Amino acid sequence: MAGYRVVVGIKWVPNTQAVRFDPKTGTLIRQGVPAIINPQDLHAIEMALRLRDAYGGEVIVITMAPPPAVQGLEHAIGMGADRAILVTDRSFAGADTLATSYVLARAINKVEREIGRVDLAVFGQETIDSSTAHIGAQVASWLGWPYIYYVKQASLSNGSLRVVRQLEDVIEEYEAKLPAVISVLAKALRPRHVSLLNKLRARTERPIITWTNKDLGLDTRCVGLKGSPTIVAKVTYLPEVPRLKKVHKAENPREAARWLLKNLLSDEKTRDLIARALWGEGSA
Ligand SMILES: Cc1cc2nc3c(=O)[nH]c(=O)nc-3n(C[C@H](O)[C@H](O)[C@H](O)COP(=O)(O)OP(=O)(O)OC[C@H]3O[C@@H](n4cnc5c(N)ncnc54)[C@H](O)[C@@H]3O)c2cc1C
Repeated sequence: MAGYRVVVGIKWVPNTQAVRFDPKTGTLIRQGVPAIINPQDLHAIEMALRLRDAYGGEVIVITMAPPPAVQGLEHAIGMGADRAILVTDRSFAGADTLATSYVLARAINKVEREIGRVDLAVFGQETIDSSTAHIGAQVASWLGWPYIYYVKQASLSNGSLRVVRQLEDVIEEYEAKLPAVISVLAKALRPRHVSLLNKLRARTERPIITWTNKDLGLDTRCVGLKGSPTIVAKVTYLPEVPRLKKVHKAENPREAARWLLKNLLSDEKTRDLIARALWGEGSA
């Protein structure tokens, strides 16, 4: 294959904006909550597609998830990914990030054995449900590949990768030898829409394959709950903050600022908060 083979990890997550918290039981109400591709992973797919479009090669999207996640892979094919792999097995359930990244890294190894050399693995910055931002770094560590995160631009040449990464107050440029792993900065790009023609490919050409642990042959002590040393000791949810949601259509910025200040200062609690933020505790 001419060009570069890029693997993108995506996660099929509950749409957290639709998840409600049950204050009586202290649990999340997940029933009827639709699942979506983790929004930041759309940026990872977009970056991989741009690299393929610029340099040739192929994009393979991979997810470790229960079978319904195939819808997420179909979406990725619809965006233009060449193939996709669903890695699924009952023994993978209950995985923490260590066990998840282990399975993903071994799946990438299998891609290399059976499909061909992988040049780059691309991940989103973090997920909207667990938000650990561990997976990219851990996969890199299992594979022994260099890892760069918060990447907003990438280019490839002669076996190496050049990236621009953006931190809060600094922009850095790095070069790394391929193969490598990157995590894409949240909202770095504008993910393309699904094309109907591409989505039809998902049904007609069947570019999505499924691997279970029969295919991967991993020791069941290293995957799922058994392979997960992390223990979630306690989860505490913050009480919901009531919001007044006032909308003001201002004539100009000066008038808008005046309106905002007047409204903020008219509430005693907000006045105290502002005073403490400006002049410290006890100043209210
Ligand atoms: C003790 C414990 C038990 C858990 N049990 C369960 C459980 O039973 N069921 C469950 O669903 N979760 C469970 N989790 C959560 C699970 O470990 C995480 O969802 C998973 O490891 C990914 O972590 P994250 O969501 O923080 O990803 P992050 O590290 O924030 O993700 C970064 C990027 O990695 C990629 N990525 C993340 N996950 C995947 C994936 N699965 N496939 C491909 N790419 C991916 C995406 O590109 C993503 O943007 C458990 C966690 C712990 C600590």
